[in-house]
Amino acid sequence: MSSNFNEKINPFEVALKQLEEAAKIISLDKGMLDILAHPKRVLTVSLPVKMDDGSIKVFTGFRSQHNDARGPHKGGIRYHPDVTIEEVKALSMWMTWKCAIADIPYGGGKGGIICNPKSMSDNELERLTRRFAYMIADIIGPRTDIPAPDVYTGGKEMAWIMDTYSALKGNYGQPEVITGKPISVGGSLGRNEATGRGLAFTVREAAKKLNINMKEATIVVQGFGNAGQFASKLVEEQGAKLIAVSDSQGSVLNDNGINVDSVIKHKKETGSIVDFEGCRSISNEELLETECTILIPAALENQITERNAGKIRAKIVAEAANGPTTPEADEILYNNKILTIPDVLANGGGVTVSYFEWLQNLRRDYWTEEEVNNRLEKNITKSFHDVYETHDKYNVDMRKAATVLAINRVAEATKIRGIWP
Ligand code: NAD
Repeated sequence: MSSNFNEKINPFEVALKQLEEAAKIISLDKGMLDILAHPKRVLTVSLPVKMDDGSIKVFTGFRSQHNDARGPHKGGIRYHPDVTIEEVKALSMWMTWKCAIADIPYGGGKGGIICNPKSMSDNELERLTRRFAYMIADIIGPRTDIPAPDVYTGGKEMAWIMDTYSALKGNYGQPEVITGKPISVGGSLGRNEATGRGLAFTVREAAKKLNINMKEATIVVQGFGNAGQFASKLVEEQGAKLIAVSDSQGSVLNDNGINVDSVIKHKKETGSIVDFEGCRSISNEELLETECTILIPAALENQITERNAGKIRAKIVAEAANGPTTPEADEILYNNKILTIPDVLANGGGVTVSYFEWLQNLRRDYWTEEEVNNRLEKNITKSFHDVYETHDKYNVDMRKAATVLAINRVAEATKIRGIWP
């Protein structure tokens, strides 16, 4: 999967534009806008790594800490050749909004290393990860900045970072420094499914608002990885029918419905959804433009743009992926009365269960999967309604409403704490 925003789009400029538009709606104080427009700290590090062939290669990594007025910075670390400082800064700002919308006591952060993990051995990846953990150890911590997985990182990398940090800082295990860990070192039950599960709850609430009968609803899903698969499964459980799905190899459609478990099995066995029985193959464009009730982009950035937004024939667009819709496309969808559940709300289940993982780690007291899922449901359902009410109050699209809600919460905390020294 690419982390590459469209070459011509600078993601930090997009994030600033969204911030400025939302600030206008609530007539935010100019000074406060300036504070929110600047990440609190951005660290660039050089990472020399001994490669398996004996050579030394120097990688570049970043950690951006956007705002911590509401609590420690929180956000993933991605490994990708296209990582840039601008992308990391934008993602850290979006994390501030996401945590505020989810109403969890965190601010925003994000990290990344410019590398191609697919071309590296496990030993090289371990050395790179531990060096990065060492270089950022003084600015992360259980009470200051708690990283997590992102594109092309997972439990394995999180365990290495936890181990390195723990060895450096007192030499005792500190699982609370990072989330998304394997269960054996303090990970939470339910974390794997959390993003898809949270998204399914937001879809359920949106359908109620639009008087959609889920038994008659159809779903189209772009991207069938972790988020796409669990989201499909859990929306299907509400009665809806999956009719089209894609992955990096291709897209397939069957108007009569695609059984989610069967297509997951097919992907596991063959490596792709392509050639799933009873389906015909379609293009990525056709997939996005298929008439359906719920469209779930769950793969890449910038998929719905001013070029194709007018052709989208869904009632709800529920964004599992980060940044799948451009600002110009947002306007078009809104004018066409399509309800977008924006990424910062729809995929907030992941960071919410990360927060639960951190709480469990701090108390060394572990919850059942049922407890995790119940608390997630309560939390994200409230977030959906908070955003929906803001959208009604200001008569703006759901993304602007989500940003307005977040900015209000973050600005309030920043103002009350004051500026010192
Ligand atoms: P993943 O790597 O598990 O899955 C990505 C899927 O997208 C794969 O099936 C891949 O084949 C497919 N894909 C890649 N290129 C494609 C293309 N051109 N057309 C169609 N499909 C394509 O990743 P994931 O964890 O499911 O994440 C997907 C998106 O959701 C990302 O934007 C990620 O940032 C976002 N997200 C994920 C989580 C999480 O907890 N997993 C949380 C928040 C946001």
